[in-house]
Amino acid sequence: MKGSFTELQNRVIQRGLCTACGTCAGVCPAGAIGWAYVDDEPLPELTGECAGCNICTTVCPGEEVNLPALEQFVFGRVREEQIPDLGFYREARVGWATDRVTRQLGASGGLVTALLIYALEKGIIDGALVAGFRQDLPWRTEARLAVNGEQLLAAARSKYACVPVNTLLNQALEQGYRRLAVVGLPCHIHGLRKMQFYGQPASLTRGVVLMVGLFCASQFYFEGTRHLLVERLGVDRLEDIASLSYRGGDWPGHLVVELKDGRRLLLDRHEYMYHHLMPAFKRDRCEMCVDWAAELADLSVGDYWDPQVRAGHALGTSSCLVRSPAGEELLDGAVKNGYVETIPLEAARLAAGIGYELKKHAAAFRLRQRRRFGWPVPEYHRQTNYTPFARELHLAPETKSDVEK
Ligand SMILES: Cc1cc2nc3c(=O)[nH]c(=O)nc-3n(C[C@H](O)[C@H](O)[C@H](O)COP(=O)(O)OP(=O)(O)OC[C@H]3O[C@@H](n4cnc5c(N)ncnc54)[C@H](O)[C@@H]3O)c2cc1C
Ligand code: SF4
Ligand code: SF4
Repeated sequence: MKGSFTELQNRVIQRGLCTACGTCAGVCPAGAIGWAYVDDEPLPELTGECAGCNICTTVCPGEEVNLPALEQFVFGRVREEQIPDLGFYREARVGWATDRVTRQLGASGGLVTALLIYALEKGIIDGALVAGFRQDLPWRTEARLAVNGEQLLAAARSKYACVPVNTLLNQALEQGYRRLAVVGLPCHIHGLRKMQFYGQPASLTRGVVLMVGLFCASQFYFEGTRHLLVERLGVDRLEDIASLSYRGGDWPGHLVVELKDGRRLLLDRHEYMYHHLMPAFKRDRCEMCVDWAAELADLSVGDYWDPQVRAGHALGTSSCLVRSPAGEELLDGAVKNGYVETIPLEAARLAAGIGYELKKHAAAFRLRQRRRFGWPVPEYHRQTNYTPFARELHLAPETKSDVEK
C-alpha cells in the first residue's frame, strides 16, 4: 500500500538500503515500528498498526538524501566545489575535555561528552540521545536517552556495531524532554534533517535542538564483533561477557572485554580495525555512503591522529568542524566556561584519514559501478568528485622518512 510501512519495506529495507538509523521508528505517530534482529542486525519491522501517514518513508535516509537541498535548508547556502570536500563549515578545531576523567573516558578527546555535559548543565538541552551497551547483554549496543552527566559518561566512546539512536525520538518527547541533542553518524543526521526539512512530525522538528555528528568511515556488522570475540580472543560463549568496550583503556583505546570469571582480554585497536573489521565486516549499505564528516550536523567530531598536534599528549584529542550557528555557540560557550579547550586545525589535513578515502573516493566510485549493473543504490543528488589528488600523509616521522628513502 502506498504511503504505508509496506512501502518503506519494499523501497528501502528489502533492497538493502536501510542504514539502521532508527528515524522511522522514532517518528511513527502510531508507535507501530519496532525492531527485528536478523543475523543480529537491527531491521525495522511493523509491530503495531500502520496508520498509512507516510511519515516513515518521507524521513527515511536509506534510499534518498538530497544533500544540496538539505544543505541549503540547514546552512542557507550550498558549498562550493572544493577538494578536499568536507561539507560546509565555519571553523575547524582540535579539542578535548578539560576534565581529565571525561577526556580519558572519551573515544578521542572526550569532546562530544564534554560539550553535552556543558549543554545539559546550562539548560541548552534537557536530554541527549546517545549510544550505550545493553545491561542484560553487555556485548550488544542500544540507543539511550541520557539526562545527566553520569549517563553521558557511561555512554562515551565509539560503538562499532549499529545503534538505531533516532528510535528514541518519540519516547523522549513523550517523557517530557523538549530540547534534545542527538549524537549520530552521518546517516542518523540525514534522517533528522529530512524530518526538519519536511516539518514532519512538527513536535519532533522543534524538539531536536542540537545535532552532534561523528565522522564515519563505516559501521560494521555485529558478525565482525563476534569474529573478534570468538576467533581472535577465544571467548567461548558471549554469555560469559561482563562488559565490552571498543575503545577501552588508554587512548587510542582497544577492544577490551571483561569476563564474568574476572579475566580481562584485549585486542589492539589498529589490529582489529584495519585487519579485521574494515576489510571484512563493513556493512553493505555503508559501502554506498558518501558522507564521511557528518556534513549536515551542527558540529562534527572525529578522531585526531596527527602526530604533530598530538606530540606531548598522552591523552586523545578530537577534531571538530563547526558548521551551524548552534554548533558555534555550543563550542564557544563550552570553551568560555572551561569545559573544553581547543586549538585551530588546518581542515585539509583531515582528508589524509582513511575515512575520507573510503567515502569520497571508493564509495563514490562504487555507486557508479553499482548503477551500471542496475543494483539498488541510494541517491544523494550530488556528483561526488572522486578524482584522486595528492594528500598529505599523517605518518609518524620515522615512518615518513622510511617512505621517503
Ligand atoms: C561507527 C563509527 C565510525 C567512525 N569513523 C570515524 C572515522 O572514520 N574517522 C574519525 O576521525 N572518526 C570516526 N569516528 C568517530 C570517533 O570514533 C569518535 O566517536 C569521535 O572522535 C568522538 O570522540 P570523543 O572522544 O569526542 O567523543 P566521546 O566523548 O567518546 O562521545 C562519543 C559519543 O558518540 C556516541 N556514539 C558512540 N558510538 C555511536 C554510534 N555507533 N552511533 C551513534 N552514536 C554513537 C556516544 O554515545 C557518545 O555520546 C567513528 C565513530 C563511529 C561510532
Ligand atoms: S528510517 Fe533509517 S532505520 Fe528506518 S528504514 Fe530508513 S534507513 Fe532504515
Ligand atoms: S557509513 Fe554512512 S550509512 Fe554507514 S553508518 Fe556511517 S554514516 Fe551511516
